Amino acid sequence: MIIVMKPNATPENVEHVVKKLHKYGLEAHLSQGKQVTIIGVIGEKSVLANKNMELLAGVDKLVPVTESYKLVNRKFSDKNTTVKIGGVEIGGDNFTIIAGPCAIESEEQIFEAAKQLKEGGVSILRGGAFKPRTSPYSFQGLGEEGLKYMQKAAKEYNMLTVSEVTSVYALNIASKYLDIIQIGARNMQNYELLKEVGKTHKPVFLKRGLSATVDEWLNAAEYIIRENNSKVILCERGIRTFETSTRNTLDISAIPVVKAKSHLPIFVDPSHASGVRGYITALARAAVAVGSDGIMVEVHPNPDQALSDGAQSLTPAEFIELRNQIKPIVDIMGRKLC
Ligand code: PEP
Ligand code: MN
Repeated sequence: MIIVMKPNATPENVEHVVKKLHKYGLEAHLSQGKQVTIIGVIGEKSVLANKNMELLAGVDKLVPVTESYKLVNRKFSDKNTTVKIGGVEIGGDNFTIIAGPCAIESEEQIFEAAKQLKEGGVSILRGGAFKPRTSPYSFQGLGEEGLKYMQKAAKEYNMLTVSEVTSVYALNIASKYLDIIQIGARNMQNYELLKEVGKTHKPVFLKRGLSATVDEWLNAAEYIIRENNSKVILCERGIRTFETSTRNTLDISAIPVVKAKSHLPIFVDPSHASGVRGYITALARAAVAVGSDGIMVEVHPNPDQALSDGAQSLTPAEFIELRNQIKPIVDIMGRKLC
């Protein structure tokens, strides 16, 4: 449930309501909107039966929250959440590009990618080290060694880093090297991993599961935020459908749906959504126009030599073309390309 305060409610009124909630063993989450303060209530709300909370000074109304996710729920906050990492802010007026190779393959490769992307205006570098490959015989990633290379490259070019963790084991190794921890599609419902990643209090990039509904995805985000980690960025990366002409089907409607249901920032990954280099720029244009807060795109210094996802990786020159094509749309949307 949420308690909506009146526009003229005083801080003392709010404090009084919060104290009452605590007295009944409930958690209170404050959201200060432009007009009113909203108090999100978590816990067994039946304890409030016959307590006449709506009669307390400054209270406007009590609204039930029927969805199973609460803290990520739009009803808990009418302000869009932004995630601040160093000097970078994700969400709000910013449209942020995260780019880099599917996998870190060598020190030279990630340095080359970082250099080219930094020149292309990118400030967040991606690169997989623990790769969730379909075949156990495919390149599995360089693990910690790869993360060391990426950290070095990011330091050299003043960039932030993001990489996927596939287990608590990988998380324990990776968290010391990364600015943002990625949970991939295959682990979106790995609840023990979600809890552990929440506990790191690092920003989390949470991809949508291959066949997850929006509500399942938002519940996954709730697991992270429950650990007092509000820095969650969602990413739509395509879902499984009957269509086989693309690797997945980009669910473009998920962006306005998520914006209506949640206050969290949301990205689009046109690379994993399409699986085809030639479709990525068109989908990136759509991502901007539909209101996403950024894109994550795979770029490789030499895609034909890539050890994973070469077919969906842009060359650095193609990346610059993508950036040039989305820039006017970002401007029309009233946002800043970062
Ligand atoms: C990735 O971003 O490297 C990745 C494996 O993506 P996804 O989890 O969306 O398949
Ligand atoms: Mn990939």
